[in-house]
Amino acid sequence: MAEPKRIVIVGGVAGGASAAARARRLSEDARIVLFERGEHISFANCGLPYHIGGTIADRERLLVQTPEGMHRRFRVDVRTRCEVLRIDREARQVAARNLATGEETAEPYDALILSPGAEPVRPPIPGADRPGVFTLRNLRDMDAILGAVERAAPRHAVVVGGGYIGLEMAEALRQRDLGVTLVELEKQVFLAADPEMVAPVHQQLEMHGVDLRLGTSITTIREEAGHLNAVLSSGESVPTGLVVLAVGIRPEVQLAREAGLEIGHTGGILVDEHMRTSDPNVFAVGDAVEVTHLVGAHKVLIPLAGPANRQGRIAADNALGRHSVYYGSQGTAICKVFDLAVGMTGLSERSLKKAGVAYEKVFVHPSSHAGYYPGAKQISLKLLFDPDSGQVFGAQAVGADGIDKRIDVIAVAIRAGLTVRDLAEQELSYAPPYGSAKDPVNYAGFVATNVLGGDARLCHVEDVVSPGRNQLLLDVRTPEEVEAGTIPGAVSIPLDELRDRLDELPQDKELLAFCQVGLRGYLACRILSQHGFACRNLTGGYKTYQATVGMLPQEDDLQKEIVEDTGEHAPPVPVAAAEAPDPKPLQIVREIDASGLQCPGPILKLRAELEEVAEGQAVTVVAGDPGFPSDVAAWCDSMGHRLVEIVPQDGACRATIVKQPRRDPGPAAAGAPADRPKGTTLVLFSGDLDRALAGFIIANGAAAMGSDVTMFFTFWGLNILRRPEKVSVRKNLVEGMFGRMMPRGANRLKLSKMNMGGMGAAMIKGIMRKKNVAPLPELIRTAQQSGVRLVACSMSMDLMGIHRDELIDGIEEGGVAMYLNRAEAGNVNLFI
Ligand code: FAD
Repeated sequence: MAEPKRIVIVGGVAGGASAAARARRLSEDARIVLFERGEHISFANCGLPYHIGGTIADRERLLVQTPEGMHRRFRVDVRTRCEVLRIDREARQVAARNLATGEETAEPYDALILSPGAEPVRPPIPGADRPGVFTLRNLRDMDAILGAVERAAPRHAVVVGGGYIGLEMAEALRQRDLGVTLVELEKQVFLAADPEMVAPVHQQLEMHGVDLRLGTSITTIREEAGHLNAVLSSGESVPTGLVVLAVGIRPEVQLAREAGLEIGHTGGILVDEHMRTSDPNVFAVGDAVEVTHLVGAHKVLIPLAGPANRQGRIAADNALGRHSVYYGSQGTAICKVFDLAVGMTGLSERSLKKAGVAYEKVFVHPSSHAGYYPGAKQISLKLLFDPDSGQVFGAQAVGADGIDKRIDVIAVAIRAGLTVRDLAEQELSYAPPYGSAKDPVNYAGFVATNVLGGDARLCHVEDVVSPGRNQLLLDVRTPEEVEAGTIPGAVSIPLDELRDRLDELPQDKELLAFCQVGLRGYLACRILSQHGFACRNLTGGYKTYQATVGMLPQEDDLQKEIVEDTGEHAPPVPVAAAEAPDPKPLQIVREIDASGLQCPGPILKLRAELEEVAEGQAVTVVAGDPGFPSDVAAWCDSMGHRLVEIVPQDGACRATIVKQPRRDPGPAAAGAPADRPKGTTLVLFSGDLDRALAGFIIANGAAAMGSDVTMFFTFWGLNILRRPEKVSVRKNLVEGMFGRMMPRGANRLKLSKMNMGGMGAAMIKGIMRKKNVAPLPELIRTAQQSGVRLVACSMSMDLMGIHRDELIDGIEEGGVAMYLNRAEAGNVNLFI
């Protein structure tokens, strides 16, 4: 009978414990010995920050398995507090020391599995090893941090490093009510993702009170008068109670190196696809090894729990004579940052660029589930793919809901070698609380497929920040959206007006069209290209532009970089004088819930409510749209209202705004906020649904911008104002016939084109519902509430036999003189 196989494992957590359990499942005879230097095996290192923050209240819950439990269930000889000191590959044995007794023993093996993990890096700066300065890897570290928080009750902590451990620690310490300064050397946190994808994370950290210092390092940690002082590269000294260093990890390879095992150029133990090291009897797994990237095929360190567990299982298979293959890691990761999640899989744009691989990218910003079902949150999703074959290279997503599901679906697609066309075709689970009939993954697939098929030509933020002389930026959003900010130099023509205003666009320039998230820009490009214009659509729209430009080097930074390059000292950055606190307490008179609405819905609601309250009174708005914080800030700035604060609330954010007096238009430079039109007149001649929608959207936008708006309804346009119900009025034969043939009111209007017996109109209404765009009757009500004057042309009423009683409430009657008077008083006059 063959001797039972002797398997020795070094490291008893993710990779090591997995290997031990798998080995026992495969062989009841094997003699399995597991050495662990620490006191615990199989603990949940990923849960450590959540216990520090208090979310996981019971410490015991972090102990997924105990040495006793491991022995009971798997008959594994677990030796905790036992460190393996040397590997004698000739003799096939390891030397281990019992850390409690100091006793050294030799343990023979047939197969050795190394899973020693990685150690946190302590930067080589003065004071990095002072008491009060911590790293976080295991339960002991966690207990030490918690002890410091509970014992000394510090009021402030500095977290160094914005990787996932640093981010989780920043959140945990905020949960413990400490002020937190997060210091990150790079210009962004969560470096695995591309910069524009973490802009919402920066916003989220700041919204939760984290003092975020990007592009900053820590240079010294001093102890002064009983507290620590963290000295930053900016020269500032931050007094603090504790410092958590989370600047990265280094694979623990000393044991392997001293045993003569090959180390890869990334610094991890070199292994083949069977997790076998340069010695056929020695396997290595987890954070300590260098792996092959599944997409890029380059060597890389990917220290994550999932790969460590799967590698442990594969090493055990092969140690027991099987031929299991590890096909590589793809870096699928997700991190919770307060109410947001940011996730990624595959290669980032940064790594594709670095590797010189040709790629294309699309951005989409759909809802996490059907917009009409409560609680939908916007997801920002970036998809990277091969521009020829469409093979998916990578994806990143950020948002408050549904990030894990989308990243995981795309992770599977990457592993299966699928293309963006396959993403478009995935049949994914859907019911309103969970998704949409077109899931964000399908949606990203559609957009990318359109690009591959040539149906959509894209431009990127890099193009629109500095358009060429033969290019023109075209903003196709509504006036309300434009009001909250646009790309400098853009010409604004709302999508619904585009067909009628093509003559305003130059034929000899390439149009770079954009909307809020990319869909209307795409529709605009379809219209424009079929009318002979050269056009490209900004992928991800203004939202992606905003996220990206915030991350591009700003003028100040460029200045600083230039100065730093020349070795000169940068001049001191002037500090804005602190705003004097408002002595009056806030009087919040309205609370608006706009959490299910997409842009510009929350702004429209806010504007309507502010109309109702007195100057000096405040309203709060809760909105789930991640772009809302910047939109509301821009809108308040443009309208002159005071934005008091933006704070997080249940995965959304709550803004408090104080109404300020209406700005006096006065003479001002062109384009300045004060130079707004003071009067807008619209003539609605048409009774087509699309034209009526365009008219009311413009009217509401103009009213929101402080303009006095008059809408003059004549001929077919009068039908928009008709009551939906039959009104009994005396009419002659012709009037009666006319009355029966014409649509009664806003809900019965037809599309000017593609009405298809009412199907087109129904489709448009459905799309509007989905996008949370108010239907026409509501737009009419909003206009009336905003003080827009709706005037029915008395002469046309007479001609068409429409009686006063047939019109909805609140309509004035007027003639040409009244119209001309209003038109002359204003400076915008439109005929629709
Ligand atoms: P480890 O789990 O670190 O285990 C190595 C063990 O080997 C250690 O306990 C060590 O004491 C022991 N050892 C080392 N040398 C010797 C020796 N000579 N003799 C005896 N014993 C030895 N990953 C995710 O995917 N998602 C997350 O959310 C996540 N969160 C994390 C949060 C924190 C705070 C930390 C620290 C890590 C987190 N990780 C996360 C990473 C994940 O925990 C690691 O990738 C995984 O644990 C690696 O497994 P491993 O077996 O290689 O190493």
